[in-house]
Amino acid sequence: MGGFGSGRKFGADCTDDYRSIDVRRWQRAGYLVPGQYFNWQWSINGEKVATISVKVEAEQLRLIYSYRRNSDDWENLNYPVRLQTSSCNYGGVRYWFICPIVGCGRQVALLYLGDKYFACRHCYKLAYRSQRETVDDRASRRANKIRDKLNWQLGILNLPGLKPKGMHWKTYYRLLAKHDNYSKQVLLGLAAKIEIMTNRLSALRNQK
Ligand SMILES: [Zn+2]
Repeated sequence: MGGFGSGRKFGADCTDDYRSIDVRRWQRAGYLVPGQYFNWQWSINGEKVATISVKVEAEQLRLIYSYRRNSDDWENLNYPVRLQTSSCNYGGVRYWFICPIVGCGRQVALLYLGDKYFACRHCYKLAYRSQRETVDDRASRRANKIRDKLNWQLGILNLPGLKPKGMHWKTYYRLLAKHDNYSKQVLLGLAAKIEIMTNRLSALRNQK
């Protein structure tokens, strides 16, 4: 597997940024029958941007596509990905890809084209966008819950309000401290996202 992952830094990338194939989708569409041959394509705003051919064989499928990195020459790829099945509770089977990267072999539903080969997210060290967002999303929701208790306008970027009538000062200060903590988490998350975006923009600019 020479050249796998070379020349690119992985780690902070998100799975949404990569082209992926989903074995569940192909199973639902009835494609996973030995002898089947189909094309799979990705489009952006209705425009086809990439396509691969898939040949289904016994207990594996074959991915056929060309790939090039930046302005290198196109390389024709054709390699098998093993399929595995597990039985479902209510009958029937569920299909899985076996990650084709040597030394991995994880059973997964999704494979990503990060660099040349389709591989699982562990191989590409990808983070699911939702996983990355949960921390500050959760903090934002919790902050709003407290703002609701305090009768403040929702949204941590809004000004704080006053202590509601009838609420004990002790309770008020406790909620206030919690609210400030959650707000800080949300703001740190936003700052991190802004940094990622700024880095991406300057990387794009440097490419020119
Ligand atoms: Zn893998």
